[in-house]
Amino acid sequence: MMELLDRSPAVNVEPAEYIRLLGYPRGWVLEGRALELADWARAWYAENGRPWIYARSADSFDLGDASIHIEGAEFTSERLRQTLQKAEAHGLILAAVCAGPEVEREARERWEDARPDEYFFLEVFGSAVVEYLITMTGARLCDWAENEQMAVLSHYSPGYPEWDIAEQPRFLKLLTGRQILPFTMDALESGALRPKKSLLAAFGVTRHTERLRRLTELVPCENCSLARCQYRRAPYRAQQTTYAVNNRALQRWAEERLSLTPRADGGVDALFRYDGTTCTNVGRPLAFHYNLTLGPREEGFPIRQQRCEPAPSDEGHTYMCEYIRDGRRMLDEIAGEKPLLGRPLNDVLSWPRSSSAAGCYCEPGSREHKWGLVLETVHYALARAAHRDRS
Ligand code: SF4
Repeated sequence: MMELLDRSPAVNVEPAEYIRLLGYPRGWVLEGRALELADWARAWYAENGRPWIYARSADSFDLGDASIHIEGAEFTSERLRQTLQKAEAHGLILAAVCAGPEVEREARERWEDARPDEYFFLEVFGSAVVEYLITMTGARLCDWAENEQMAVLSHYSPGYPEWDIAEQPRFLKLLTGRQILPFTMDALESGALRPKKSLLAAFGVTRHTERLRRLTELVPCENCSLARCQYRRAPYRAQQTTYAVNNRALQRWAEERLSLTPRADGGVDALFRYDGTTCTNVGRPLAFHYNLTLGPREEGFPIRQQRCEPAPSDEGHTYMCEYIRDGRRMLDEIAGEKPLLGRPLNDVLSWPRSSSAAGCYCEPGSREHKWGLVLETVHYALARAAHRDRS
């Protein structure tokens, strides 16, 4: 049985990690106003943040054909199930880390005070703290496990791919059923945690350490920046921005379908043209325009306006089934859908969205999927432009 409770863990977020989460390309060096804001957010958190971590061994777990039972509660994550199976894990550690409610509260106040740049840098610093806390929790578990001739596997969390975030409340209940957490943490019906800057995770534990020498993807070392770890099984690979869409497609779309126009206020106007076909009516070509107005980079490119509508002179959209049923209603719905409005563009990287890839616009899921493609393409193009400016 292992149990770990730290009510005030040290926090030392790596500058490179913070810069990555801010949405800058690898190797970027902050300067000017951005550096000032980053230093301010770090100093604010050092003085006011109240992080904590908690972890304990699960009393029992077993793997079903398609699910995992932890202390009798059922969870469905094929990715976690396979990781535990491949590593022949015999134990599981349940963990919660939290950057505290203060950072979220302060960020919200800055936003309400019309200081969006301060909001953005503080908000992202809170996310960086959560990543740091889970990494350091993993490192402490590694230290414990190595002394017991065992190894800890990469953590996995509700909300990650192949683990429905709706299972988060059940996971939290498991943790709180035994131990009163040091500070309040709730899971909403949607699965989101409160405080928002928190993470729940499961770490597998195995005695088959020799297997991990071959299966290095099962251990967290590639994602662990701990510089002088004596137990390291794989070299650290600094993380790159990961998009849901593959980079070659993003590059092609950025070149062929997207135009970016700088604005006088430091922001950017973006126009993306989507070319698709209707699913019925012998696949008629259709084209939609996506117009975006983004705020300045220093504020994290907040999405200030967004709109999707048929491209001028496009007739293909009139052959979609929903358009034939009620064209006006359909176009109003499309124009009214503004996912991530008001949020930094970077949020598209963690936006859980529909994967419906239908070419038409009849279903809300396929429209949401297309907004994801558009926002990722814009993110990709801006990150590349920033990289070019820098080099
Ligand atoms: S480098 Fe690997 S073994 Fe060392 S603390 Fe990080 S994850 Fe654990």
